[in-house]
Formats: sequence, C-alpha cells, structure tokens
Amino acid sequence: MRRTLFDDVHEEFRASFQTFLSREVVGEEGRYGQWEREGIVPRDVYARAGGGGFLAMEVPERYGGAGVKDFRFNLVIGEESQRAGVGSFGLGVTLHNDICLPYFLRYCTEQQRERWLPGIVSGELITAIAMTEPGIGSDLAGLATRARRDGDGYVVDGTKTFITNGINADLVITAVRTDPSEPHRGISLVVIERGMEGFERGRNLEKIGQHAQDTAELFFSAVHVPAENLLGSEGEGFRYLVSNLPQERLSIAASAVAAAETALSWTLGYARERHAFGQPIGSFQSSRFTLAELRTEVDIARTYIDRCAQALDADELTPEDAAMAKWWCTELQGRVADRCLQLFGGYGYMLEYPIARAFADARVTRIYGGTNEIMKEIIGRSLGL
Ligand SMILES: Cc1cc2nc3c(=O)[nH]c(=O)nc-3n(C[C@H](O)[C@H](O)[C@H](O)COP(=O)(O)OP(=O)(O)OC[C@H]3O[C@@H](n4cnc5c(N)ncnc54)[C@H](O)[C@@H]3O)c2cc1C
Repeated sequence: MRRTLFDDVHEEFRASFQTFLSREVVGEEGRYGQWEREGIVPRDVYARAGGGGFLAMEVPERYGGAGVKDFRFNLVIGEESQRAGVGSFGLGVTLHNDICLPYFLRYCTEQQRERWLPGIVSGELITAIAMTEPGIGSDLAGLATRARRDGDGYVVDGTKTFITNGINADLVITAVRTDPSEPHRGISLVVIERGMEGFERGRNLEKIGQHAQDTAELFFSAVHVPAENLLGSEGEGFRYLVSNLPQERLSIAASAVAAAETALSWTLGYARERHAFGQPIGSFQSSRFTLAELRTEVDIARTYIDRCAQALDADELTPEDAAMAKWWCTELQGRVADRCLQLFGGYGYMLEYPIARAFADARVTRIYGGTNEIMKEIIGRSLGL
C-alpha cells in the first residue's frame, strides 16, 4: 500500500540522513563492523549527527534546535538505521531523540534548558535514562536507588543496570527514591552528569545482539546532586515515566517494523538468487507462502504504526495503543527474523550475513521498554480485567 504518512520535507530529510549513514556510519572501510566489535559507537559520531541536524529536532530554535514537533522525522531516523543494517547505532540515537529528549523538553526549568539543550542538539551531550536496577525492572515502584536530602541538593546511592548509552552518556536521567514510605509518589528524576564525584560506570555488558550499542552498569556512591539537577517536581518521577512511555514504546515498535521490512527485503533478494533442485528457493511453494505471510503481516503492522504516529503528533496516543504496537510489532520482528533466517539456510547462521545479526538484534525488543508481558497487562487492565 502507498504510505501517506510523509510529506516531501520528510523525504528530503530521509535522503540527507541516508547520506549521513552511508558516509559516517556504514563507511567504505566497514566502520560499523568495527563499532560492533568494540561494543560502542565513538562519541564524535554523535557530534557529526548533531551537525547534520539529526539530533533533538524538536528543541526550540533559541537553544539551537530546529523547533519542529513532528514525530515523523524521528521515525525516519529509526527506519533508515534499520534499512542500512545499522540498528544498534540507530538505537543510541532514537534513545537520545525519542526517549530522553521529551523529559528535558517537558520538565526542565529555563536555567536547565539553557544549560543542557544546546549540547543535546549538537551531540556534545549524549543522554541516557536509568530506571532498571539489578533487583528491579518491570516493577519500577520497587526501585531502591536512594536520594537523601542534603542542604538544597541530594546525595544519591545505588546501582543501575542495562543502561543504553551507559558508557557514552553525559546526562543520565536517573530514577531515584526520595521518599521510602511512598512506592510511587516517592520517586523523582534527577540528572546525574559525567564527572560528578562518586558516579562510576561499570562494565559495558556483553550482549547476544545490538553489538555497537553500549549497555552498561552505573554505580552511584554518595553522589552529590545539586537541587538544580532535579527534573520537574520531587515525587512526580513515576508519573513522568508513565506519561512518556507511550512515545518510547512507539519508537521501539516502529523500528521493529522497519527491521522486519528490511529482513524481508534481504530475504526476497536471496530467495530469487539462491537455487536448489534447479530452481530459485523462493519458487518452492513453502517459501512463497512464508514470504507471502510475512509480507502481509508486515504491511498490516506498518499501517497501524503510521496511524499511531499520527495519533502521537495529535497528542492522542494512549498507553494502550502504544502497548499494543510494542508487543505485537516486536513479536512480529522476531518471527520475521527467524523465518527469514531459515530461508538463508546455513548462511543465515553466519554472522557475516546481516540476517544473522538482525536475528540476534531482534530478541531484546520484546524485553526492553517494558516487557511484552507488561504490555499485555496494560492492555488487559484497560479492558476492566
Ligand atoms: C539491551 C537492553 C537495554 C536496556 N536499556 C535500558 C535503559 O536504557 N534504561 C533502563 O532503565 N532499562 C533498560 N533496560 C532494562 C529493561 O527495560 C528491563 O530489562 C525490562 O524492563 C525487564 O526488567 P527485568 O530485566 O528486571 O525483568 P523482570 O522485571 O525481572 O521480569 C522477568 C520476567 O518476568 C516477567 N514479569 C514481570 N512482572 C510481570 C507481571 N506483572 N506479569 C507477567 N509477567 C511479569 C517479565 O515479563 C519477564 O519475562 C535494557 C535492557 C536491555 C536488555
């Protein structure tokens, strides 16, 4: 079906981001492969993305941004990163743009905006959000990282884990407990900055996929966080997290569909070229049926995602809409990656083939951003169950 979501201006942005990816990320000398081996994207690539206008586009012009509130530009970045086969680079950027930026835009004071937004736009300040701890993930109300009042600031102690951009991040939006007696109303968000005394990074964790993405443990030991690093109001952190999660989930779902489309296109090409028993493997009825089923599911998912993007821009996307998008599209991504890999036969198991890496990269999307079981809980509760 013809997509009607984008206008010419988005297609121009897409073309310029494609050029950026091929010059700065894919690179003739296999730059992305090197980042996958090293487990991290060099920081200066963020600065180049910022220079190209691909970071934090929504930031008002007076802080250096484009001042464009239009999630379709964000979608282009996620989609093209998947199409270029550099999804774990795209993850760091979509985390910065789609997931972290809204907190800075919505809850910063004027003084905080002046301090942080220009660097977030230019890529000199890379962002992360730290909710998960070794002892809690889904059940955020149980988080233990403690922020005790100290003068007009806080002293933070605790550990976070699985934090995307964890090594590269300069500004970490950190969920902390400011009141131990209140599970939800006792949570606040503070920005912990690179270089604060007592803030240490742990390992860049070894993962089964998303290899160019730095996912890390963070340790806070008596970190003095000034009051001017509190985001919004004390005790409102849980509410802020819940209200920003629909955009995070749509971002994950949209990249999942783009990843599925990409895997399908690689597989269609392979199924035409690879021969067995004197005919292209795609011409066996079982292959044709597989590809026909996947094409159908991906196209239907795409339509729902495009509609969700419109709803988000109209401030109408509900937590349930986003939860449906997230669980269904990420399961689809896993299914597509698995069934496509099968059509590559033994080559599909070889990491030099992008389909093998796409298979490994896909697994986590059912887990992060809220597991798919939690998504179904959100939907189920809305049914009055
Ligand atoms: C690569 C990667 C990147 C990540 N990036 C970030 C990040 O940037 N910031 C961040 O804060 N976190 C991040 N996470 C953490 C991620 O969001 C959590 O792993 C996820 O929310 C699940 O939490 P958990 O791992 O503690 O699992 P648990 O909450 O312990 O869940 C374990 C299992 O129990 C199930 N379960 C739990 N509760 C229920 C329930 N009520 N009903 C049914 N089933 C349930 C879960 O679905 C899951 O299958 C990342 C994780 C990974 C792997």
